[in-house]
Amino acid sequence: MTDMLKISLPDGSVREMPAGSTPADVAAAIGPGLAKAALAARVDGELRDLARPFEGDAELALVTSRDEGDALELARHDYAHVLAEAVQALWPDTQITFGPATEDGFYYDFAPGERGPFGEEDLPVIEAKMREIVAADKPLVREVWTRDQLIAWFEQQGERFKAEWAAELPEDEELTVYRSGDWLDMCRGPHLPSTGKLDPQAFKLTRVAGAYWRGDQKNAMLSRIYGTGWLNKKQLDAHLLRLEEAAKRDHRKLGQEMDLFHLQSEAHGSVFWHPRGYVIWRELEAYMRRAIDGGGYQEVKTPQVMDARQWEQSGHWGKYRENMFVIPDEVPNVDDEGPIVSDAAEWMALKPMNCPAHILIFKQGIKSYRDLPLRLYENGCCHRNEPNGALHGLMRVRQFTQDDAHIFCREDQIVDEVRAFCALADRIYRDFGFRYEIKLALRPEVRFGSEEVWDLAEAELREAVVAAGLATAEYGWEELPGEGAFYAPKLEWHLTDAIGRTWQVGTIQSDRVLPERLDATYIGEDGERHRPIMLHRAIFGSYERFIGILVEHYAGKLPLWLAPVQAVVATIVSDADGYASDVTARLKAAGIRAEPDLRNEKINYKVREHSVGKVPHLLVVGKREAEEGTVALRTLGEQQQRVLALDEAIALLKAEALPPDLR
Ligand SMILES: [Zn+2]
Ligand SMILES: [Zn+2]
Repeated sequence: MTDMLKISLPDGSVREMPAGSTPADVAAAIGPGLAKAALAARVDGELRDLARPFEGDAELALVTSRDEGDALELARHDYAHVLAEAVQALWPDTQITFGPATEDGFYYDFAPGERGPFGEEDLPVIEAKMREIVAADKPLVREVWTRDQLIAWFEQQGERFKAEWAAELPEDEELTVYRSGDWLDMCRGPHLPSTGKLDPQAFKLTRVAGAYWRGDQKNAMLSRIYGTGWLNKKQLDAHLLRLEEAAKRDHRKLGQEMDLFHLQSEAHGSVFWHPRGYVIWRELEAYMRRAIDGGGYQEVKTPQVMDARQWEQSGHWGKYRENMFVIPDEVPNVDDEGPIVSDAAEWMALKPMNCPAHILIFKQGIKSYRDLPLRLYENGCCHRNEPNGALHGLMRVRQFTQDDAHIFCREDQIVDEVRAFCALADRIYRDFGFRYEIKLALRPEVRFGSEEVWDLAEAELREAVVAAGLATAEYGWEELPGEGAFYAPKLEWHLTDAIGRTWQVGTIQSDRVLPERLDATYIGEDGERHRPIMLHRAIFGSYERFIGILVEHYAGKLPLWLAPVQAVVATIVSDADGYASDVTARLKAAGIRAEPDLRNEKINYKVREHSVGKVPHLLVVGKREAEEGTVALRTLGEQQQRVLALDEAIALLKAEALPPDLR
């Protein structure tokens, strides 16, 4: 029997520590520098408080601010507590509820007392109080309480919400609270050792919103205070700058200024494309058609509405029905007062995916091994019944059009097909000015199929990326355990935009399940029937979202070939109207999307307006230009204007307007 614990450290060394020791003791034993830098600990992989004693021999990794993921999570959790403590110090009749860490900070939901809901004007006062609490460097102490102790405490404090919550927990459960002086909150933890570990200049309260208790609108309305929290001021400043930049680039704002599209509640989540926005769409469609024609695909078009039987067979009816728009296959009776939809109606559904319909095309006629690979492409318009709260501009919609293709192939063709897809995706993303990273999402916990099939499917995708030379750090190559689809692993392409945000757009997955369910076969070299493998793949993802990403990436200043209006011919004086119309006609004849602006407005006014509309080129003409057959070319984002002969200007624009794949 020994009272010494064996604590193994990441470098492989083992320290003997007396029973009752904590990770903080180990840090102190290693050295004063580490004792100061340590924020928390991973004990046998679990994130824990520094001061929580070991329960036996353990593997220990100390967490410092260099372990950014863990350290940020802890700091944000602490900020939420400090926020709650500050609010109760300022308004003691406020009741606390819950406050988690978020992607860039934290929030806390309060039930305000007498004073009523919080407003933006309260935030500076609360921030100041939070800074006092941080400066006081109060230890955050973990205590284990029984449920009844906790209920009694919250009732005594007048914390109705917390008491209600605690009362619903299992009776014999040991609960933890974190104490900061006299103030405490029920919490699973872990936390930083003290409030002083937070940087008082690294957080900012950002906004206030209403939120229902337990997210249910039948319950009391609470006041939610949001903040963003970081490890140091530099991180906070960088984040605030990114937010500012992102707001300027917001595709909903630019979409309005550039007159591209609108959304309205009568068609929630479906886009009204205006003429200018649809120009971008048409250019993308034309570009993609050239790419798939060159890539050996064949374009198809499949029905928007299919019978419920079809969806039942594909498995969508069982697994996906709550996301589908279901409609009766019968003209509703509008003549009498009876129910519009009768029980006898056969159900149909708008397609949420194109895959089953492509299999139905594959199944027409007998396919032989010589017909494979068969690559079917569709600009496939799909509908998914997303909850209202999840919708966001063009980024998350209910009606969208995928650049969707399915490659039916033999086992021995998969690696070549995936490799060819990698090359196609690479060319396309480069054409649009994106860098990207590739990830392999591996088998999830809940899945169809045997381990052997998963081993094989994962190995094929991995092999193809290696063969394409993309499995390198430069392409952010990474395998993501547990993130594959339930029927197949998938490769994901994550684009990095101009301000460093990432967007997952492209994907390819190898699927052996759907061909089985829908009984797709081909005749092999051996004369027997075999199942084809189905590769689901997309590069834009959806046209809607890809346009949203492009608008934000370019901050509206799209490359000339995508710009809805490529040039405006603006007059300085009405004397030049005739010449301006001629110039416009010449540009149009050269294939440039040009418009005249003959309005009787000051030229500076016209320049400003077209700059807000992100028109790339302005051709300014006055009396002198009309006489000399020239134009003054002003390019968006440039200070200087250049006077050019009209022919020269047209040649310049024509060359620049050429899509990248046609250069
Ligand atoms: Zn907590
Ligand atoms: Zn598919």
